[in-house]
Amino acid sequence: MAAAVPSVEPATEAAAARRFLQGPPKQLLIGGKWVPAKSGKTFETINPANEEVLALVAEGDRADIDEAVAAARRAFEAGRWPSLGPHQRARYLLRIADLIEQHADELAQLITLDNGKPISEATVEVGRTVDTFRYYAGWATKFYGETNPSAPDFFNYTLREPVGVCGQIIPWNGPLSTISWKVAPALAFGNTLVLKPAEQTPLPAVRMGELICEAGLPDGVVNIVTGFGPTAGAALAGHPDVDKVAFTGSTEVGKLILQASAGNLKRVSLELGGKSPNVIFADAPLETAVALSATGVFRNQGQVCCAATRMFVQESLYDEFAERIAAKAEAIRLGEPLDQTTTMGPLVSSEQYERVLGYLKLARDEGAQAKAGGERGPQERGYFVKPTIYTAVRNDMRIAREEIFGPVAVLIPFKDENDAVLQGNDTTYGLGAGVWTRDLSRAHRVARALRAGSVWVNCYGLIDPISAFGGYKQSGFGRELGPQSIDLYTQIKSVYVKL
Ligand code: NAP
Ligand code: MG
Repeated sequence: MAAAVPSVEPATEAAAARRFLQGPPKQLLIGGKWVPAKSGKTFETINPANEEVLALVAEGDRADIDEAVAAARRAFEAGRWPSLGPHQRARYLLRIADLIEQHADELAQLITLDNGKPISEATVEVGRTVDTFRYYAGWATKFYGETNPSAPDFFNYTLREPVGVCGQIIPWNGPLSTISWKVAPALAFGNTLVLKPAEQTPLPAVRMGELICEAGLPDGVVNIVTGFGPTAGAALAGHPDVDKVAFTGSTEVGKLILQASAGNLKRVSLELGGKSPNVIFADAPLETAVALSATGVFRNQGQVCCAATRMFVQESLYDEFAERIAAKAEAIRLGEPLDQTTTMGPLVSSEQYERVLGYLKLARDEGAQAKAGGERGPQERGYFVKPTIYTAVRNDMRIAREEIFGPVAVLIPFKDENDAVLQGNDTTYGLGAGVWTRDLSRAHRVARALRAGSVWVNCYGLIDPISAFGGYKQSGFGRELGPQSIDLYTQIKSVYVKL
């Protein structure tokens, strides 16, 4: 099968990615070995920029999940990972980070080929993945228990122990970074795991699996089962021998994950969808507000859970802001994502493409006006949609309420601070929010009033592994990144000693 690698990128990086793409179908990593799916089935992963097949990938299902969970359980119970000293576990994480860094260009290529995001953004994603592994390497030696003021004839202390076998289900929009958000803390705190990547972007996960093997992790500590959500994903979410499930994806599937967890009361953390308000006051630093609001909604073709999709602009600034951000949208270079000068690539899949085009039609039906975009890209092949800005939108329209997950922003006017907060919070989601103003007191007031897990003041969309990330309301629960991952991946044991 010919690997669909266009010829615009530097030869060496392309060669490494091409070597990986060629050859037999990608396999499952179970118990330290690469194996085909028990059913023998494979599926195609597609390059969304040209709709060509990149590679065949093993289609794991319930039977493979059973094997992978059993391997993770053996590795956990035999103490192959939890009983290693914390310094040793930290060294493994650092080794994984080094290997990612050494293969950064190749991984960025694979992300772009499989997902469609511009290579410049894929390169940033690889860098953040490295940072996250190093960050949690640090935590492996720093998750402390407590000594408590017990009665004089008792000594009481707590231990932080790993949860056990973790099931980790990730989406396609950050195919490498979401691995690090889940795998790095799970490993740092002594758990073993089974990872189920999204069917649209299995390749970065498989390559990561190879690097994890190269780092020399004991067999069965990390298992990777590629396959589909309703089969492999559902089997993992409902598995009676999985202690915890961490999920990132849609709110709809998040609810299924929660239901599936009830069988053995496994712990669950959910990172779900969003429809984030970005509030721009008349005294905003305008130049930056326009530029960073545009990247806040258009990065990764808008397929970002915390994208700045609902822009609330103070009435007196509304027309000027609309003009300026529409001009930014028009200036975006939509095209071949491997080209270094491209600033927007295709959407990830034909399903996502159809879904976003459906919302563009809905926008017309609802009476919104496209200040920029509003239609598919001019490309003959690939899932390209033009960056789109809508005016004449009210907060109660479906395009302002439902997650589109494409390069589409709606601009809604507001009167004053109170109105901005009321409209901003009028959503079932609560993942991200932005505030733009030169008034420091107002910035802090609005940051407190907006019900969202992350608020950005005079910036947008920054995610650093040092700080917690997660949702209010139907954007999920549990916080990933930062020290908060300790709570997700450890449990507390209280020990009483009679003196
Ligand atoms: P999705 O359908 O929820 O898929 C996410 C993951 O869940 C994939 O690995 C998928 O597998 C799997 N899955 C699907 N059905 C399942 C089931 N019944 N049981 C177990 N696993 C199942 O999400 P998507 O539509 O592909 O991705 C876009 C959505 O994800 C958006 O709504 C976005 O907001 C959300 N998202 C949220 C965050 C966040 O951090 N909060 C980050 C990224 C994306 P397959 O792909 O193989 O079906
Ligand atoms: Mg793909």
